[in-house]
Amino acid sequence: MVEAVQKTTRHSHLKNLDYSVVQQCMHCGLCLPTCPTYDATKLERNSPRGRIALMRAIADGQLEATKIFGDEMYFCLGCLACMTACPAGVNYAELFEHARAEVEECHVLDSPKRKLIRWFTVKWLFMDLSRLLFVGRAMRLYQRLGIQTLIRRSGVMKVLPKRLQELEAMTPVIPPKFSADMIAPVTPAVGERKYRVAMLTGCAQDLIFSEVNRDTVEVLTHNGCEVFTPPEQQCCGSLHAHNGELRLATELARKAIDQFPPEQFDAIISNAGGCGMHLKHYSNLLADDPHYRERAELWDCKLKDVHEFLAQIGVRAPSRNGQPAITVTYHESCHLSHGQKIVLQPRQVLKLIPNLTLVELPEANWCCGSAGIYNLVQPEMANELLDRKLKHIQSTGATVVANGNSGCLLQLINGVREAGMQVRVAHPMTLLAEAYRAEKA
Ligand code: SF4
Ligand code: SF4
Repeated sequence: MVEAVQKTTRHSHLKNLDYSVVQQCMHCGLCLPTCPTYDATKLERNSPRGRIALMRAIADGQLEATKIFGDEMYFCLGCLACMTACPAGVNYAELFEHARAEVEECHVLDSPKRKLIRWFTVKWLFMDLSRLLFVGRAMRLYQRLGIQTLIRRSGVMKVLPKRLQELEAMTPVIPPKFSADMIAPVTPAVGERKYRVAMLTGCAQDLIFSEVNRDTVEVLTHNGCEVFTPPEQQCCGSLHAHNGELRLATELARKAIDQFPPEQFDAIISNAGGCGMHLKHYSNLLADDPHYRERAELWDCKLKDVHEFLAQIGVRAPSRNGQPAITVTYHESCHLSHGQKIVLQPRQVLKLIPNLTLVELPEANWCCGSAGIYNLVQPEMANELLDRKLKHIQSTGATVVANGNSGCLLQLINGVREAGMQVRVAHPMTLLAEAYRAEKA
C-alpha cells in the first residue's frame, strides 16, 4: 500500500517534461548510423530512436521505469551525435537529462555500492571545489613522493581486482599548481582593453588541466580582453545534470550566476566543450525561479566557448616566428560539435598558428569514449571507441592531436600513453598561447 502511494506521488521527470519535446521523434531512423552504441550492437533499444520510444512510453504512462530502462539510459554516451543527424530537430539532450533524472528518482539502479560512490563523487566531492582540490593535493603528494611509482613497480596492484587496476592506470597526473596559483583574479589586457570577460576555470579542468586555463587567459589577454578569474570557483553542474541530479545542478547554476553576474561582462568564457554545453542552458534549469530566470537568460546569451568568442571578435594571428613545424589533427569534443555546433572555429584558430599544418581526422566527430564519466562506468564500450579513435589519429601521421574538452583530453592522453604512440595531446588554446609566447623569443 505504502509502495503504491509512493508510486503515484513520485515526481516523474519525463511525465512533467514539455510534451512537445517528448513527441518530436518521427521514427525515421536517420540518426541510427551516427550512434556509436547502435553501431556496436545493432540493437534498436541501443539506438536514439529506441531510447526515445522508451522515454515516451514512460511519459505516456504506458511503462514504469525499470532496471532495464536505467541500464539503457546509462549505456547511452550522451554524445548527442543523434541531434546533429536528426532532421526533425529532436532535443535529445533535454530528453536524456530528464530520463537519467527519472532513473535516479525511481532508484531502479540503486545498490549500496552505487549509492556510496554517487554520494561521495556527485553529491559531496563535486559540490565544493575545495574538497576536490584537497583530494587533488593528496594525489599530487602521492605522485610527487614517488609512492605511486613504487606501488606500480612493486606488483601490489596485481592482487587487486582487474577493474581497480584499470581505474588506477587512469589516474591523471596532478599538475604542480592549480589555476588560482597561476592566474591572478584580474588579468589586464595586453595593450588596449576592448572587452571585459569572465573565465570559468572548472572543477576537473582545474584539477588536471590548470595549465590550459592559464593558456586560455593568456590568449584572451592577447586579444584585448581583461579577464576576471576568481580563485574560488565551483563545478558548473554538468556532471550533476548528466547524471540525473537536476536539483544539485540547479543549485550550482545559482551559485555560478551569483559569482559571475552576467550583466557585468561582455562574455563569460568556457574552454571545456562538455561544460560549455551545459552552461549555455542555465535558463532551462532556472525557468521556474522568479529570482534567477531573467539573469539566467542573460547568462545563456553571454556564455561563449573560447573558440567561438575568438572567432566572433576576430582572433589575432600570431606573427611568424621560429617555432618548429608541426602537423596537427583535431578531434572534436561531442558537446562542442554536436551540442554547441562549434565545428569550424577551433580549426580556424589552429590554422592561424604559424608553421602548423592541420590534417583532417577521419570520423573527427565520433565519440572517443570519454563522455563525462562514461569511461569509468562503461569501460568496454569506452575502450572500443578509444581504440577506434587512436587508429584514426595514427592514420593521419600527426604528431599532435588537438581537442577542446578536458574529458576527451584525459581519455586521449591515457590512450596514446597505453598504446605507446608518440603523439602529443593539446588544447588549441595551449598551442595558440605557445605561438604568442614565441613572438617574444
Ligand atoms: S547520445 Fe550518442 S549514444 Fe546516445 S543515443 Fe544519441 S548518438 Fe546514441
Ligand atoms: S531522433 Fe530524429 S533522426 Fe532519430 S528517428 Fe527520431 S526523428 Fe529520426
